[in-house]
Amino acid sequence: MATLFVVGTPIGNLEDITLRALRVLKEVDLILCEDTRVTKRLLLKYEIGTPTMSYHAQSKLAKVDKILSLLEEGKNLALVSDAGTPCISDPGALLVSQILDSKVKGQLLNVSVVPIPGPSALVTALSSAGISVAEFTFLGFLPHKKGRETLFKEIADSSRVIAFYESPHRIEKTLESLEKFCGTERNIIIARELTKIYEEFARGTVSDVKAHFAENPDRIRGEFVVIVLGRM
Ligand code: SAM
Repeated sequence: MATLFVVGTPIGNLEDITLRALRVLKEVDLILCEDTRVTKRLLLKYEIGTPTMSYHAQSKLAKVDKILSLLEEGKNLALVSDAGTPCISDPGALLVSQILDSKVKGQLLNVSVVPIPGPSALVTALSSAGISVAEFTFLGFLPHKKGRETLFKEIADSSRVIAFYESPHRIEKTLESLEKFCGTERNIIIARELTKIYEEFARGTVSDVKAHFAENPDRIRGEFVVIVLGRM
């Protein structure tokens, strides 16, 4: 039976990879990468010479067919994204579902999908946020336009912890929206550049964190996870 391994890779620090992930990346026949150039940096560090092929959200059906036929031939594949866990706000989920649903001569393709756990920015941020996270809601990336206001109203009303991903281009706009909908006193945590040189947790009320970034505009760069504490 062929296997598709869904492999978590580092979100910054290349040492954050499991022994199992390294073994699997060494042993598979092909690694499907969001961007082969990004994954090659990791493979180079660990002297892994496995061939790579790109697979991303815009990949054409022909590529999916190729992947399916490799699995049909019994080849073992690994799926990785540029950083973190594939399919979590990253490409891969559609491919995994196509593989699970794919049939050959009326029979489901004989493939197992095996997760190889690794880092995710979401869990990394929550782990050191300093809050109790028995339950939370994850929103991925917020929509830029349609539905954005409704979502902020939901965040404002929520008594649960809410986490989402944000880009440096939108973080100030997002802080403004949090101020508008949740008020200045809602507690938030912004985890930035996790596992990298400029890793930072900005904690406090919306107005504290907004002031922090206004005073330190050089810190409005990199990658962000936003955590909004529940309404009291
Ligand atoms: N699949 C990835 C995961 O498991 O974390 C997430 C991929 S998503 C396309 C990229 C977003 O994740 C970034 O825009 C940022 O919001 C968040 N992210 C990824 N790496 C991060 C890091 N080192 N520090 C903070 N946020 C990060």
